[in-house]
Formats: sequence, structure tokens, C-alpha cells
Amino acid sequence: MTSFPLLFDLARKPTTRDIAKAVRHGGTAALTEAERRADQARYQEITCRSALNRVEGMPFNWTLNPYRGCTHGCHYCFARRYHVQFEMNAGDEFASVILVKHNLVDVLTRELDKPSWTRELVAFGTATDPYQPIEGHYKLSRGAIQALTRGRTPFGLITRRAR
Ligand code: SF4
Repeated sequence: MTSFPLLFDLARKPTTRDIAKAVRHGGTAALTEAERRADQARYQEITCRSALNRVEGMPFNWTLNPYRGCTHGCHYCFARRYHVQFEMNAGDEFASVILVKHNLVDVLTRELDKPSWTRELVAFGTATDPYQPIEGHYKLSRGAIQALTRGRTPFGLITRRAR
């Protein structure tokens, strides 16, 4: 059996770069730290270095996404293609291997506290649904909204409506 020491040798949670490297060499089977939950999806906690992502060519300049991948798995989802960045496929793995930015709220709080932050509009949930079911466990979206509110930063949030 092939071993993938990269994730296990780290004292910290892996970054997205670590994830991509591990998956490139061993597929998602290499994500042995990913926790399988009752919904059969696997959840891999990751460390994010930044919470706010600068974007161009959009009506907003900043995006914020606590999760990557989405268990709703809508077939038309434009965000599927983003999973390829992590060397995963845009099909089943988009809906069954979810990356969780466990430190997102702390990082976001630090970013919002910077004197250089000018409180521009933040688009929340542009890559995946911030209220997919796992949010009930991690509450990252809840914490991020609290941080944005404390930081007097305007935001717009995109989520899936109830069926
Ligand atoms: S709920 Fe939104 S992010 Fe999730 S799969 Fe559907 S369209 Fe994509």
C-alpha cells in the first residue's frame, strides 16, 4: 500500500497546496485525515493563510468561502470546476470531498483588524454554499458573519434556497 506522509508529518492542518500535492500523487485516498460523516461525504480540515480573496472583473473585489466543494452537488454548479485546483474531479469529488477552512474566522478577524482594510464589499459564498449541512457542525459562516459585523464590513451572501 502506498503511504502519503505529507499530511501526517505536519503539526498543522494541511494547506490547499498540501492537499493538491497529496491528491496529485495518491488521489483522494491520500486524504486519510478526512473525516467521513453520516452523509458519506469526507471532510478534510485545512489551514487557510488568508480568508479574504481578492478578485478582479467582478462587481465586488473580495470573496470569502469557508468551504470548498459542496454536498448539495447541483449538477449545474459553476463552482465544480474550482475543485480541479485541488487536483480533484469536478464530478463526484466536488460533492463528496469537502475542504473545511477550520481557522477561517481567526484569519478573517485579523484581516479585518488591519488598519489598511478599507471595508469594501465582501461577496460571501461565491465558490460553494456557506450553509451546506456541515455548517451546522463547524459554524464557520456564523463566525465569519459575526467577524464582518464587528469589523463594520458590508457583505452579500449567496446560499441555496430550501427546496
Ligand atoms: S448549492 Fe450552490 S455551491 Fe452547492 S452545488 Fe448547488 S449551486 Fe453549487
